[in-house]
Amino acid sequence: MKLHDLHCHTNLSLCAKRDADIETYIKNADEEGLFLIGFSDHAWDRGLGNPISFYASQNYERLLERKAPENRKVKVVFGAEGEFAGGLLGARRETMKKFDYIIIPHSHTHMSGFVLPECCDTPEKHGRFLYESFVSLLNHRDIDCVFGIAHPFCPCGKKYDEAEEILSYITDKEFEYCGRLAADKGVFLEFNTSAAFVYPEEGAEDCSYARFFRNAKKGGAKFFLGSDNHYPYKQEENKLFRWKERAVPFGLCETDFTDALYRICRG
Ligand SMILES: [Zn+2]
Ligand SMILES: [Zn+2]
Repeated sequence: MKLHDLHCHTNLSLCAKRDADIETYIKNADEEGLFLIGFSDHAWDRGLGNPISFYASQNYERLLERKAPENRKVKVVFGAEGEFAGGLLGARRETMKKFDYIIIPHSHTHMSGFVLPECCDTPEKHGRFLYESFVSLLNHRDIDCVFGIAHPFCPCGKKYDEAEEILSYITDKEFEYCGRLAADKGVFLEFNTSAAFVYPEEGAEDCSYARFFRNAKKGGAKFFLGSDNHYPYKQEENKLFRWKERAVPFGLCETDFTDALYRICRG
């Protein structure tokens, strides 16, 4: 497979390391033979709704300044990781269209009171929220401007056993429906190696996160690869290069990623 990483954060994201710069990402990508790299810094569209302070300075405009060095082998695309909170997609259509691609998460549920409603205070309510927020995002009127869903069904910040309990409240049929919805809308689902490696190798095929991927694929979903790296790690520390160690037990194979790659290369 042409190895790609559509989920990298530079120092324009507040949560990334300060020396996470585009040049180092690209230098590593060239040395390590990556086919394509995408930068998806966090963003919220200025003047829209009432975002939390994390997004106050993280607007989309600042991301339009990013540039890749001329002499490089890797294909580079510039995108953003937006936000979906309280039913509001934090980006206008005209803003999203200025980028090569946009990924939107529905599962930044560590942002309690913003993404996850305060009343969703049990694993069951959290699980039901994840299902409902996914369906609601996929039915958003502007979903045609969205390339993919960032780390779907990964309750951010939760440990393996907590995440398992949360996902246990979503059925196989519901996961399959999510996959069908994604396929129908032409939206790709991320296989995010940071999220996948929260799950231990042993018994990986039996976890609920695997249940999501297997059933979403059954529903017709297609996928893209992302590391969610917040620093340009070298190959030996970069879990992206080990994607198969979790993707295969989760039921995915190389051909599940070809459509997304084709779409982004076509532009
Ligand atoms: Zn995220
Ligand atoms: Zn991210």
